Amino acid sequence: MTETGTTTPPLRTRARDWLRVGGLLWQSSPGAMVGMVVATVAVASIPALQLSAIAAAVQAVADGIGGDGAAARDRVLGLSLVILGLMVASHLFGVFSQYLNNILLLRLATTVGERLMRTGTQLEMSDFEDPEAYDALQRAYQESTGGRLHQLFADLLDIARETVMVVTVGLVIISWNPWLGLLIFLAPVPSAVAQLWYGRKVFEVEYVRAPQRRRLMYYQFLATTDHSFKEVRLFNLADHLVARYRDVVHHFLAIDRSIARRAAVSFAVLGLVSVAATVAAIYVTMTSTLDTGDIGRLAGFLTALAAIQASMHAVLMTLGSLYESSLFVGNLFHVFDMPRPRPAGRGRPFPSPIRTGFEFRDVSFRYPGTSSLVLRDINLNLPADRCVALVGENGSGKTTIVKLLTRLYEPTSGTILLDGIPLEEYDDEEYRENIGVIFQDFIRYEMPVRQNVGFGRVQNVDDDDAIRAALSAGGGDQIADQLPQGLDTMLGRHFTQGHQLSGGQWQRVALARAFFRDAPVVILDEPTASIDAAAEQEIFERFRVISRDTVSLLIAHRFSTVRMADHIVVLSDGSILEGGTHAELMALDGQYARLFTIQARGYLESSGAAID
Ligand code: ADP
Repeated sequence: MTETGTTTPPLRTRARDWLRVGGLLWQSSPGAMVGMVVATVAVASIPALQLSAIAAAVQAVADGIGGDGAAARDRVLGLSLVILGLMVASHLFGVFSQYLNNILLLRLATTVGERLMRTGTQLEMSDFEDPEAYDALQRAYQESTGGRLHQLFADLLDIARETVMVVTVGLVIISWNPWLGLLIFLAPVPSAVAQLWYGRKVFEVEYVRAPQRRRLMYYQFLATTDHSFKEVRLFNLADHLVARYRDVVHHFLAIDRSIARRAAVSFAVLGLVSVAATVAAIYVTMTSTLDTGDIGRLAGFLTALAAIQASMHAVLMTLGSLYESSLFVGNLFHVFDMPRPRPAGRGRPFPSPIRTGFEFRDVSFRYPGTSSLVLRDINLNLPADRCVALVGENGSGKTTIVKLLTRLYEPTSGTILLDGIPLEEYDDEEYRENIGVIFQDFIRYEMPVRQNVGFGRVQNVDDDDAIRAALSAGGGDQIADQLPQGLDTMLGRHFTQGHQLSGGQWQRVALARAFFRDAPVVILDEPTASIDAAAEQEIFERFRVISRDTVSLLIAHRFSTVRMADHIVVLSDGSILEGGTHAELMALDGQYARLFTIQARGYLESSGAAID
């Protein structure tokens, strides 16, 4: 597909989307919306009344000059008062509609912002791993927090107001002289055609460009966030990133320039037709006034001509920007429609206590959108009151097992059972509540210590004693004590007075979060990679004590830790290779023994000790 290709944007969907915008506005504030419509219609219809009053007043002046001056003065005074009334009304309605506009905009931004957050949390893991879906979400989020929503709303109002004005003023003119009215209406049409062609072209080009735009956004993201700063600086990536950005933008520029050139030619030619039609309309009015002597209507006509031209011009300009906004609206509703209804779970309560534990029965798994199995016929037991450790090389499938256990994904085939019952039978929310998990890429919340730990069980976030106990279990007793505002110290550097922790300290906080959850199932996926070996050992000894009554699953790379587990499972390339206690696996002299020996040798050599 080329950039200037003929991909047709989904016009039908967009028409429906605009109706949904109305729905959103209604949902945000029905009162303000009704008020807004009334005020907009009022503001927009006043010019037509003003026009009639001005024409009558000018005619009264003309009549007065040639005839009864006193009567004309009275009429002029009366009409001036009418004009005053109309102008005051227009002013007040204008202020009122501006006020409602602000209210509605604030409400709309809140509704959309909230809905987006909800949508994000209702998506599936696979949506975040699908580039298209993820980008759509990011774009909706960025544009809704930027000026796009405001722009969209202001454009809609402008178009509504100007259209009502053009139609009502036009009706007055048509009632005076239908042919003239028609000419005034038709004069801007050629310009309009050129403008619409241009808007449409820009829209089509942007539509096809979406994937490249995403790439540009990514380059900009790399160049402007703390997340990537260190590598961009130390690998000297700045020039390379800017060059890649520039390549894409220059390619865009060449196409945009050609469209702009063609647009300028058509604006010039069709604009001349509009100018000719306008001048013809002026000429016809002047000559017909010579016949009728209706000087008031001439004044009204000239006023109307200027007003209609200005309004039509405003509408045409706004239409262009509305095209862009429609991209945003389409994307926004696409995102709102993304959450798929989850099979509601069969509502079975979580077992308390867990009797037999988890069983993977012939579980195989392939990530959505990929073709190869990453887990193959896994049969695995995680018994109650036991700690099972998973070991295996990178990419062998350990984290994937955790994702299945936590129901972020469903197995492609096979079943996972808890106490003999398939996981999907359990109530979804209750199931999640009973699992405490920390992934290796855990979140460093840019929030106080309290939230960083308390999010493990958010309803208890104010329980200081429990938070301190969890910190202590995670080996982070001193973290809160050393920080200036204790548990309420802001962590990270994004916000003022934030304190940055070391990698190991962040891990201790994350561990504390898992322990704070106090769940009967605890899963730790390499949570101690940045913690030194002695501290890790101490943390796990404590963990074993706390987790005596829990099902616990541990993924770790240090065998000194792994060997503490009751049962060790060795994964290789998505299959289970061997399993047993440390002693059994060493006796088996298989993969585990081999990996253990390699690691032990490394330690011993670096400490200068002899092996064996
Ligand atoms: P481990 O935790 O043992 O290092 P993982 O479970 O993370 O391994 O990954 C197992 C395999 O699944 C790897 O080959 C990896 O490339 C693939 N994989 C992991 N996550 C995804 C994903 N979201 N989409 C597609 N493939 C994935």
